[in-house]
Amino acid sequence: MGKVYLIGAGPGDEELITLKAVRKLSECTAVMYDRLAGPGILKYVNEDCEIYYCGKEPGCHYKNQDEINNMLVELAKKGHVVGRIKGGDPYVFGRGGEEALALLKENIEFEVIPGITSPISALNYAGIPVTHRKVARSFHIFTGKTAEKLDINWEAAAKIGGTLIFLMGFRNLEVICSKLKENGMDENTPCAVVMRGTTSKQKKVVGKIKDIKEKAEEAGLTSPCIIVIGDVIKFNEQLDWYEKKPLFGKNVCITRSKAQSREMREKLLDLGAQVTEIHSIEIKYTSENIKEYLDKLLEYDYIIFTSVNGVNSFFERLLTENYDIRNIKGKFAAIGPATERAIKSKGIIPEIVAEKFVAESLHDKMKGFIKKGDKVFIPRSKNARPYLAEALREEGCIVDECYTYETVAGSLTDKNCFNDVDTVIFTSPTTVRNMIELVGLSAIKEKQVISIGPITGKELKKHDIDYEMSEEYTTDGVIKQLLEGK
Ligand code: SAH
Repeated sequence: MGKVYLIGAGPGDEELITLKAVRKLSECTAVMYDRLAGPGILKYVNEDCEIYYCGKEPGCHYKNQDEINNMLVELAKKGHVVGRIKGGDPYVFGRGGEEALALLKENIEFEVIPGITSPISALNYAGIPVTHRKVARSFHIFTGKTAEKLDINWEAAAKIGGTLIFLMGFRNLEVICSKLKENGMDENTPCAVVMRGTTSKQKKVVGKIKDIKEKAEEAGLTSPCIIVIGDVIKFNEQLDWYEKKPLFGKNVCITRSKAQSREMREKLLDLGAQVTEIHSIEIKYTSENIKEYLDKLLEYDYIIFTSVNGVNSFFERLLTENYDIRNIKGKFAAIGPATERAIKSKGIIPEIVAEKFVAESLHDKMKGFIKKGDKVFIPRSKNARPYLAEALREEGCIVDECYTYETVAGSLTDKNCFNDVDTVIFTSPTTVRNMIELVGLSAIKEKQVISIGPITGKELKKHDIDYEMSEEYTTDGVIKQLLEGK
């Protein structure tokens, strides 16, 4: 018999998730998630985890609550560690209690992991503190779903003071406001609606209970939204730290491998962007190929790295083979600053570093060092261009190339994650080709496209995709381009 974790995944911002949720997700062998939790959450599950989408919205594969409960039971009985991922907190209008009771009935072990709930966090991201000294001494969270049935004590709600919050109430916004007015609330009481809070699609409309309906309609808001009523709304411009971030409102898609995405992802998140990671390439190390060069390593005059993966695959293999790095006497060369950093992290300072992340630039730089007859070793990707090796051979060098890794096409679990993307960043011709396979050419053409350098640009041009190019061929260059292009 397996076990079920009912996991709160937070309101949308991928980092508003608990350490416990992340740790448990990595243990799950099957997960069920829905739209509020969003596909971004799937990055925390293991590769071989089974993934079930149980959207309830129209047009999607419909799963009613009974079906969901049954499926949880079924998966657990098969022996799975099941993660039932829910937006916000599982117990805040999340039917977590019902699911837990269904499991209990079948004697299935469960735990509930609390999540950061949207009524508090989405308001925060919209600049609205849920309580404030002397302004709001309490907050009250209602479901607005059944508001038209008048099953809320409106008289109490209109008089209780503090901050009133309605979830699932957007369709009933008018009913909610008029019920409060009818029961004595001043029609000039501040009211705001926050759509898709904590994400790049966050939109906020501020008004009064007498006019919020028209304003929200005018702004074109759609569900999911949170309705908030109360004086704390007056802080929304001053405390609006999130919407003021330079890349707020941008959903940026990173297309490189998981291992390579981290630096860019974190920089983008810090600037307020939402990040969609599609690992269109995955890296497979084939560094066992180094074995046949092992005895020769001490003879090379230069060891050239043209990528971070080249560095990592090389040194990982030396470690496996118990090879002492001090045997190597040759000089090290790196293409671009990221590769330089990777080499430095192994305790080696490369003598030669090309400023630009292209082989031509490294070749130019090498010209000042090499002479005829020099022995050069290039551990590199099977998929990389042969340019550098060929150019060095033409200069009279003896060049050995070794394929220490290769890029293989990545896969995509949920195509929908591309819908919200505004900008796609391509970092190699392979990412361009693989992304076309994964999401389709026409979907890419609808987005802003940034290429990290001219080689990638050439591939984009081939497919007739308009693009901007960063001046520097680095993560920071791309980010600069994003900031300027906004
Ligand atoms: N368990 C969730 C709430 C589920 S009810 C939680 O704790 O947050 C679903 C409702 O939550 C939606 O209709 C909407 O009113 C609200 N909601 C959830 N996430 C939201 C978000 N990011 N922005 C705005 N509203 C959100």
